[in-house]
Amino acid sequence: MKKVVKFGGSSLASAEQFQKVGRIIRADAGRRFVVPSAPGKRYDKDIKVTDMLYSCYALAEVGKDFKKELAQIERRYKEIIEGLGLNLSLTEEFQTIAEKFKKNEGRDYAASRGEYLNGLVMAEYLGYEFIDAAEVIFFHENGSFDAEKTERVLAERLEGKEHAVIPGFYGAKEDGTVTTFSRGGSDITGSIVAAAIHADLYENWTDVSGFLITDPRIIINPEVIETITYRELRELSYMGATVLHEDAIFPVRKEGIPINIKNTNAPEDPGTLIVESTCRKPKYTITGIAGKKGFAAINIEKDMMNTEIGFGRKVLGVFEDNGISFEHMPSGIDTMTIFVHQSEFEEKEQKVLAGIHRSVHPDSVELESDLALIAVVGRGMKSNRGVAGRIFSALAHANINIKMIDQGSSELNIIIGVKNEDFEPAIQAIYDIFVVTRL
Ligand code: ADP
Ligand code: ASP
Ligand code: MG
Repeated sequence: MKKVVKFGGSSLASAEQFQKVGRIIRADAGRRFVVPSAPGKRYDKDIKVTDMLYSCYALAEVGKDFKKELAQIERRYKEIIEGLGLNLSLTEEFQTIAEKFKKNEGRDYAASRGEYLNGLVMAEYLGYEFIDAAEVIFFHENGSFDAEKTERVLAERLEGKEHAVIPGFYGAKEDGTVTTFSRGGSDITGSIVAAAIHADLYENWTDVSGFLITDPRIIINPEVIETITYRELRELSYMGATVLHEDAIFPVRKEGIPINIKNTNAPEDPGTLIVESTCRKPKYTITGIAGKKGFAAINIEKDMMNTEIGFGRKVLGVFEDNGISFEHMPSGIDTMTIFVHQSEFEEKEQKVLAGIHRSVHPDSVELESDLALIAVVGRGMKSNRGVAGRIFSALAHANINIKMIDQGSSELNIIIGVKNEDFEPAIQAIYDIFVVTRL
C-alpha cells in the first residue's frame, strides 16, 4: 500500500500535535509521503502561522519594521522544535526570510514559508527526506497551476523513493518565483503528490472525524458522512464546506485514488471515504448541506422573455463585461434571476443595471441584497420523490421565507435562497427533517 498523508494546520499546531502525527505515520508502513500544512490554531482565538506571515509581510511591503512580528513566528517554530527535542535550528532560515521580506519578495513567498519551515521540522522529526515544493510543483506565468510540468518533474523526483516530506500550499513559476494556491491549498498539494506516485489512498488528516453532514459551527455535532462521491463533495465544498479545498479532488480523481478524511485527534475513527462512485446506499436521502452568505439577486422581468432569442446571453454579457461572475441563475417564463457575490457586485451595481436596461429593455429590474444560498446535496435524491416539497414544508414550518429554490439538472443538488439572517435556522430545519427525523 502506498499512501500520501496530508496534515492540516491544527494537526501540526504544537509539539503535542506533532507527536500524534508521528504516531499515526509510524502506525502504518504505507504512510510514506507526507504533506504538512503550516502550524494552525492551538486554541480558538489563536492565529494561524499563515495569517501571521501575511500580516508580517504587509508591514515589510510598506517599509515598516516587522522584526517583532517575525520573531513571534520564529517562536512558534521554536516551541515545536524544543517540545519535540529536535536538534534543528531555523535561525539562518529566518535571516533569509527577513532579507527577502525587505526586498519585497512577494506575498505568496511570505505565506509559503509557513509550510516550508514546517516541512523542515517534519522531515527532521520523522527522519525523512525534505523536498522543497518550489522544485516540484509548478505554476504558469499567469499564476495557474501547471499540471503537466508538475506531473513530469514530481513523478521523476519521487521515483524509487521510500519516504519524503513535501510541504503543501506552494510551488514556483518557471523563473523560480514562489507562488501559492488559494487558502487551504495544502489539500491540493496532497492530491497532486498522490496522483504523481499513483498512491492507493490519499489520507487527509484534520480536526474532525470526517466530512460531516453539515458545518459543525452551525449544527451541534452533526453526523459523519461515511462515503461520499467526488461529485457530491465538489458541490458541498464549492458551497462552503471547507473541510477539503474544492480543487483538491481533480488530481486524485483522474487516477481513481480515493480520499480518506481522518481525524488526527481520533485516529481510530473511520472518517469519510471519498470515491468516484459507490453502490453503498446513502444513510439518508441527502448526503450533505452547505451554504454561503453574502449574495445579491438581480431579478429581471420582461413579458415574453422566453421567446426573445439571445436574451440570456445579452444579460450575462453585461455581467461578463463588468468582470462579475454569477453564482446561480434560476429562471421562469418571464423572469430571470441572477445571484452574484454582493461584495463583487456592489461597486459596479449602477453600471450593471444601466447595461441591462440598454441591452434587453426589461419591464423591471429589482435588486435584493443580504441573501444566502444553501445547497442540499445527495446522490440519493434522484430516486426519492418530493425532496423539494419536504424542504419547502420544513422551512415553512420554521417560518423561513424561501427566496428561490432550484433543482440542478443532475438531480444531485437543490439550491435554496434565503435571507442571510435565516441561514442558520434554515440549515437546522433541513438537517432536522432529513437526518433527525429521517423523512
Ligand atoms: P485543516 O487545517 O486540517 O486543513 P480546515 O480548517 O481547513 O482544516 O477544515 C476543517 C474544518 O472545516 C473543521 O474544523 C470544521 O470547522 C470545518 N467544516 C465546515 N464544514 C464542514 C463539514 N461539512 N464537515 C466537517 N467540517 C466542516
Ligand atoms: N496554510 C495555508 C492556509 O492557511 C494552506 C492550508 O492550510 O492548506 O490557507
Ligand atoms: Mg484546510
